[in-house]
Amino acid sequence: LSMDKLTPVQLAELDRKHFLHPTTNPKAHAENGPKAMFSEGKGIYVSEMEGVPYIDGVSMLWNVNIGHGNQEIAEVAKEQMSKLAYSSSFNGFSNEPAVRLAEKLATLAPGNLNSVFFTSGGSESNDTAFKLARFYWELNRKPLKRKIIALGNSYHGVTIAAQTATSIPNFHSFTNSKIKEVFHAKPHLTECERGDKNHPDYEGCIRDIVEKEGADTIAAVIMEPVQGAGGVHIPPEGYMAAVRKLCDDFNILLIADEVITGFGRTGTMFGSENWEAIPDLLCFAKGVTSGYAQLGGVMLSQNVRDTIVEYEEVLSHGFTYSGHATSCAVALKNIEIIERENLVANAKNMEVKLKAGLEYLSEKHKIVTKPRAIGLLSAIDLYQDPANNVPFEEGVMAAAKVWEACFERKLIARPIRFAKGMNTIALAPPLIINNQQIEDVVGILDDAISEFSKSL
Ligand code: PLP
Repeated sequence: LSMDKLTPVQLAELDRKHFLHPTTNPKAHAENGPKAMFSEGKGIYVSEMEGVPYIDGVSMLWNVNIGHGNQEIAEVAKEQMSKLAYSSSFNGFSNEPAVRLAEKLATLAPGNLNSVFFTSGGSESNDTAFKLARFYWELNRKPLKRKIIALGNSYHGVTIAAQTATSIPNFHSFTNSKIKEVFHAKPHLTECERGDKNHPDYEGCIRDIVEKEGADTIAAVIMEPVQGAGGVHIPPEGYMAAVRKLCDDFNILLIADEVITGFGRTGTMFGSENWEAIPDLLCFAKGVTSGYAQLGGVMLSQNVRDTIVEYEEVLSHGFTYSGHATSCAVALKNIEIIERENLVANAKNMEVKLKAGLEYLSEKHKIVTKPRAIGLLSAIDLYQDPANNVPFEEGVMAAAKVWEACFERKLIARPIRFAKGMNTIALAPPLIINNQQIEDVVGILDDAISEFSKSL
C-alpha cells in the first residue's frame, strides 16, 4: 500500500476495519470510521488532507508543547536515525543523546533531582516510580513500606499499576484490573469536608489514610502538581508544600506526576516549582519531546539515587526503549527550542490573556463558571445554574455538545465529563501561541457556547 494512492475515504475504510483505537467507542468507530484523519501540522494548527486547519487547542493530548511541524526537530531525528537510530541501554550500554539528555534534565529539574531512569511514556514512568519507591524502602530495610496513596480525580495512565492509581472511574470500566496496596485520598480538591470553607484541609484526606494504614506501611504519595485529565484542578496555594511536609513528617516518598505539567505547561519548567515543593521522584513524558518521539522517565532525588546505587545486583527493570537514542536527541532539541524561544515565559504571559478570555466567557454566558488557568493549562465548567450549583442533566451532554460545536468551527478543545454533573471544557494550546491566536480560541469557544445555549 502506497500512502499517496489512498484517498481519505479509502483510509477511513481501512481504519474502520483494522485499527482498534484507544479511548474510543469501538462499536461506533467500527461503524462510522475515524472522526478526523490528520495529515499535516504547523504551529498551533493541524489539518486533514485538503482540509481547513483546526486550532489544536489542547496540544493533542496536552503534549505538543512546541507546536506542530517543527523542521529543526525533523532534521535532528533524521540525523540521529541515519547515524544510530537506537541502541540498548541495558547491561551498561549507553549512547550520547541519552547521556546528554540525562545531564540536561538534571540541570533543569528542581532541587537535587539529578538522575533519571528512562521509559517510553507516562504510564511506564509511574509504574517505574512505584517500583523505585518500594525498592528504596526495601533497601532501607523497611520492606513493609509498599502502599501507594493517590488522590481523587487523578489520572496516572493505563498500565495496571498506573491505572490503579488513577481515580477517574471511566478508566476502570475496562476490566477493572488493579494491583493491591493502592489507596485513594478522597474527596480531593473539588470538595472537602475538612477545615472551614476558606481553609479546606485537603491534605487531611491523605493524613487520614496514613494514620489508618500506618506510616510504616506506606511507600509513597503520588500527585499531579495540577490535575489535568481529572478536570484541570489547580490546587490552592500551599497545598503541595503541605503534602511535602506530610510526607517528610511520616517518612513517605513524594512522587510528582509531571507528565502534563513538565516542560513549561504551567508557566514554570516543572509544575512542582509553582509551589516550591520538591518531590523525591518526578515522572515526566509528553512535553519532553513535544510528541515528536516517544519518551518518558523518572527523575530521582540524590537521596533515592544514593540508596539505589548501593545495590550490588542487577536492577531488573527497564524497557527496550529506555534511553532511545532518537527520542533522546529529539528531546534535547525540543528542550533547546523551549529555552531558546522562551516558551516557559510565553506560557506564563499568555496565561493572563487566556484567563481573561475565559473570565469574559463566564461573565457573558450564564452557564459558564470557574474560569481557571495556570500557564497554558486551563478550563471552564458548564452548569445549568452555576449560582445555585445546579449541574446539567446527564442527557443534555453539555460538554460534549460544546466540544462538538468547537470542532465544527475548527477548534479542538477537550471535554471532561467523567463524574455525574461534571461538564468541563479544557484548553491547553501549544506554548508558542500568541495573543491573536488566543483571541481566536476564545472567540470560537464563545460562539460554540452561544450555539449550545440557544439549543437549551
Ligand atoms: N500521567 C498523567 C498526569 C497524564 O496526563 C498521562 C497521560 O495523559 C499519563 C500519566 C500517562 O501517560 P502515557 O499516556 O504516556 O502513558
